[in-house]
Amino acid sequence: MKEKTAKNVFIKTNGTPSSKKHEKQVRSALEDGSFRIMDRYDRSCDLIVCIGGDGTFLNLIHELDFPKAPIIGVNTGHLGFFQEIEPAETTAFIKSYRSGNYKTQKMAAVDIELSDGQKKYKETGLNEIVVRGPIGKNIHLGLSIGESFIEDFTGDAILVATPAGSTAYNYSLGGSIVDPGLELLQVTPIAPINTVAYRSFTSSIVLPPKGNLGLKPRTADDGDVHVEFDGFSVEYEDIKEMNVKLSSRKITLLRLDSYDFWNKVKSKFL
Ligand code: NAP
Ligand code: MN
Repeated sequence: MKEKTAKNVFIKTNGTPSSKKHEKQVRSALEDGSFRIMDRYDRSCDLIVCIGGDGTFLNLIHELDFPKAPIIGVNTGHLGFFQEIEPAETTAFIKSYRSGNYKTQKMAAVDIELSDGQKKYKETGLNEIVVRGPIGKNIHLGLSIGESFIEDFTGDAILVATPAGSTAYNYSLGGSIVDPGLELLQVTPIAPINTVAYRSFTSSIVLPPKGNLGLKPRTADDGDVHVEFDGFSVEYEDIKEMNVKLSSRKITLLRLDSYDFWNKVKSKFL
């Protein structure tokens, strides 16, 4: 078999001046014959370099439809929780990458399947899926886990976070931070009403890897839902039933040898 000479690298950058400047640096650091910079992503890609913040990273994941190639993030954004290195570390990272000194981290996504009784629709989130009613209104949803009916939920929305998304919107809502080594889904209510009129859980519920969360709109009005995921939003009408579960889709992040999830949480949150 012919030996492959250069690694194919795809670079994605958001449009900010600082990201553009760092893209130039990344390109020149890669220009030594052992890498080939791709014009377009395809399956021959060996490495994706994503320059920006978490928003850029999430956009990339959806644009490339959950790519198989491993991704290294260079943070030029605000928080950059997915982004592993700072721009100044780029040259050192490329050296480590060449000698195989890095770790990989797989992150599973979450799927929602919606049905209007005739057609089925599907969305996938790396951070989370949120099911919300019309703006300014509550949504009434019957919530089941597996075969068991659990509660009638009334409130702003239901959020289902992956471990990767546990530190994002889920965390702002008082949900738990989850070690990415665990395979689970966290169901976090958004402003649940608890009165004699409506009653639902106020804390997050944690589902096992094969768990299924069923959501049934209680009235026809509740069938008009906004599905939010990773900063995107899609409106659906006349939905009769929704099911949320762990996705079979995964992405792979490259991490420095020194990467430790809890140290990262400490450095970004405390
Ligand atoms: P954004 O409004 O810039 O995101 C809000 C913040 O969340 C940003 O600081 C972003 O980092 C950070 N972030 C994204 N994913 C994260 C993760 N897995 N862990 C920790 N922090 C994370 O919008 P965006 O950049 O397009 O990100 C979309 C995400 O925003 C959604 O998936 C949702 O989780 C989150 N969100 C949060 C709230 C809230 O907390 N109240 C409300 C709506 C949406 P960067 O600064 O690097 O972009
Ligand atoms: Mn952002």
